[in-house]
Amino acid sequence: DIPPPLDVDPARRIFGLETEFGLHLDSADSRAVTPEEVAGHLFHSVVQWGRSSNVFLPNASRLYIDVGAHPEYATAECDSLTDLIAMDKAGERIVQDLVAGGEERLRAAGVDGQIHLYKNNTDSAGNSYGCHENYLVRRRADFKAFASALLPFLVTRQIVTGAGCITRTPQGAHYSFSPRADHMWEGLSSATTRSRPMINTRDEPHANAELYRRMHVIVGDSTMAEPTTLLKMGATDLVLRIMEARAVLPELTLAREMQAIRDVAHDLTGQATVELADGRRLTAVEVQQTYIDLVRSHLGGVIERTAEVDAILDLWQRGVDAVRTQDLSGVETELDWAIKYRLITRYQERLGCALDDARLARLELAFHDVSPERGLVAKLQAQGLVKRIVPEEAIVRAMTTAPETTRARLRGAFVTRALESGHDFTVDWVHLKIAGSSGTTVLLKDPFRSEDARVDALLDALAQS
Ligand code: ATP
Ligand code: MG
Ligand code: MG
Repeated sequence: DIPPPLDVDPARRIFGLETEFGLHLDSADSRAVTPEEVAGHLFHSVVQWGRSSNVFLPNASRLYIDVGAHPEYATAECDSLTDLIAMDKAGERIVQDLVAGGEERLRAAGVDGQIHLYKNNTDSAGNSYGCHENYLVRRRADFKAFASALLPFLVTRQIVTGAGCITRTPQGAHYSFSPRADHMWEGLSSATTRSRPMINTRDEPHANAELYRRMHVIVGDSTMAEPTTLLKMGATDLVLRIMEARAVLPELTLAREMQAIRDVAHDLTGQATVELADGRRLTAVEVQQTYIDLVRSHLGGVIERTAEVDAILDLWQRGVDAVRTQDLSGVETELDWAIKYRLITRYQERLGCALDDARLARLELAFHDVSPERGLVAKLQAQGLVKRIVPEEAIVRAMTTAPETTRARLRGAFVTRALESGHDFTVDWVHLKIAGSSGTTVLLKDPFRSEDARVDALLDALAQS
């Protein structure tokens, strides 16, 4: 019997982050192997223990090969941003830990080379791949209108949460806020690959569908610096909280979202304006400042004031100020686009080269390389030049241990015990089952529930047989 949904505080939210990694083989013989083969070698050890290249890990997260031979890591459900950041960072290390084995398999197949995994959003062939943000929201009849109301925020937040990138055009190269912006084709859609929306409205809550929806934001860039991830998820959460409280929102509907997201991305001065449906023109700085002011006006009311909320608002304001004043010094250890911009401009000055120089392209890739040896962000963190949010121990623990306060705890315990005891099993976000057993499938519709007697019984069954 399924226990009734928990009566949870409306401010409590489930978060998840999905990251598709760019996969690259650096080898003299690289033409001899397809990306699919490289991915296959990389996932060899996963298939060995998981019998599939699409698995749930002992930390309750999902690891699989997505279309286009991209390894994807989808974090377990978290109910705090610090848990989420630890889970997300753990994912970088989990995929990186596959590299040595993958290279060995390749060598055995006669191909010598280095496998690189990039937490970025575009490859040299111009393909774009995503970083999906997931926010549990309460179900409502007007979901499309609700999601639409988030678009002015999502179109303009790239000036603080963008990953930054060198954009190459026939007219030359320039630095932009977001590599994803040029690949977006509409505001909302229930399809992802064909249409490239900013929000995927496919109704798949991975939870009790009578109560919940999953806000599936797919416009964001993958972020490397922990404070950037905190701001990306945290600011979006704060805006959602105000929207869910049905508070009055400022009228910021955009006339043309696709034009706006491109215009904002390509104007580092923050002076470009976007046209609103009511005919006004605002800069992205003005739109973001409106949201900051909105959140501030709800502090102590809809939004409970905590140290974390203060930290998010502080970084958000410094990010907007940096664009407004064109002085990046206030955020250049915290926001991806500014950290990367500083790296690239310094190196460019030293080399005295144009922005489209291949050496700068390599530097940009190194920024996204998840290897602890080759990755620039890991180096900058070690030197204190990129700030951190979560302790190292929390990331190491998150590689093998699920979040304690959500449904993920149940899945993590089940996967861990099933692997230890050698039982076959099937798992997804809402189901747990011991394979081949006559036992029932346990359905976990409540992502807030971290304890369940039915799962205890499953764990007992694993221990006994
Ligand atoms: P795809 O990415 O293939 O289109 P999908 O969005 O269902 O499908 P998954 O890669 O399986 O993708 O990732 C689902 C993400 O949603 C995970 O990060 C998970 O933690 C998160 N999640 C699971 N349940 C919920 C929920 N009820 N509310 C919000 N997020 C959730
Ligand atoms: Mg996914
Ligand atoms: Mg997704």
